[in-house]
Amino acid sequence: MKRTILATLMALALAVPAASLARALDPTETYVLAGALLDKPGTAPRGPSTLVLRGGKVAEVRSGFAEAPAGTRVIDLRDRFVLPGLIDSHVHLNGRGNPLLARMDASGRDVQDVFVTMQMSARATVEAGFTTVRDLGSDPRSIRALRDAVDRGDVVGPGIVNAGQMISVTGGHGDGRNGLREGISDTVELHQINVCDGPDDCRRAVRRQIALGALVIKFAATGGVTSNVAGGLGRQMTPEEMKAIVETAHAFGRKVTAHSHAMEGTKAALQAGVDSVEHGTFLDDETIRLFREKGAFLVPTMLAPVATLAQARAGQLGPAAAAKVGEGRSAVPNHERAIRAGVKIAFGTDSGVSVHGDNAREFALLVERGLTPMQAISAATANAASLLGRGDSIGALTPGMDADIIAVKGSPLEDVRRLEQVDFVMHRGAVIKQAGVRAPFPPTEGLALKADR
Ligand SMILES: [Zn+2]
Repeated sequence: MKRTILATLMALALAVPAASLARALDPTETYVLAGALLDKPGTAPRGPSTLVLRGGKVAEVRSGFAEAPAGTRVIDLRDRFVLPGLIDSHVHLNGRGNPLLARMDASGRDVQDVFVTMQMSARATVEAGFTTVRDLGSDPRSIRALRDAVDRGDVVGPGIVNAGQMISVTGGHGDGRNGLREGISDTVELHQINVCDGPDDCRRAVRRQIALGALVIKFAATGGVTSNVAGGLGRQMTPEEMKAIVETAHAFGRKVTAHSHAMEGTKAALQAGVDSVEHGTFLDDETIRLFREKGAFLVPTMLAPVATLAQARAGQLGPAAAAKVGEGRSAVPNHERAIRAGVKIAFGTDSGVSVHGDNAREFALLVERGLTPMQAISAATANAASLLGRGDSIGALTPGMDADIIAVKGSPLEDVRRLEQVDFVMHRGAVIKQAGVRAPFPPTEGLALKADR
């Protein structure tokens, strides 16, 4: 059998030149014809271009519409603006954007129910054009399993950089016992491994999340809007605890991000050496200077306070959370100030607080607060890729990068809200959606793609 294949290959090699032989033998080669192509966000887009894909990666970028060899898969996006798949640096795939529902059925939902929710969220997210997410707080085992299933191609979803559970102090934003009655609280405590008090205990909590598969570590420096505990958004964790967390995570090669609203929490987190700060609701000149000095990213999650305000108005939040919504809204002028001062921004929505699939609504908010559409797109591509430590594989469409490709009608540089209507999505070379239509599963089979033109 082996000899037969070899003989066939040799016969082919004699019949055709070497370069076209390699192409003929590569069944995964795809030509994507792009009307306009933003291959490197931050630089001007190219006009008509062709992306040649091989093995789920970008192999070549050519100017104009290249003629594909016979039998090659061709994806015709000649009337579309093509750009790299988007990256959301802050989601919770276990969240459903409905806190009332979450509170009502919390006691009956098993981890298997949570996993189903996460799988649905993952699909909605990737179909919206977000081909990579950083999940900053989910059931650690479920998110690890989902991440690996996406990587194997078993389920449709974005690539996932997972934090597992958020590290928190007792009574802090990430303490699952907050507000629970005796008995229920005791049961939650039995399974709670993310809560720590004191530097040594916090080192243990970080190591535990890493042992469960966390690729990034998140901790709560301050209070949070949605947790069921009164007391505002002030600093909850001590600077010593933050330093222990950052040092331990970095020693394991994990980046660290801090959930932080109050200035005191953000300053202590930046001084402890975090790679990014989520929310950053309250900022002064000194905090902004620290961001720039440390080179840390701000992930402003502007969609989150919009969502929680709507939920508070609809009576979906418990009294402790509802009381904190107003504070969360004070971010607007502070984010504008940070943007004017040139703080590095990475795109993140906190989806799960809001509904999954609505992630792109964040773009218009970023532009309202002072980013140009190009800067907003860079925040969701090059910047987020750099924050996730994946700048060598995602966030641009240059040779060697993953074939994470999306397309929209018209230029998002003229109207960034066009990114709310992504109608073509490819993830690692597999078509997820084309002309707004969901691809059959497995997506590698693609839609009815034209084999030749
Ligand atoms: Zn969050």
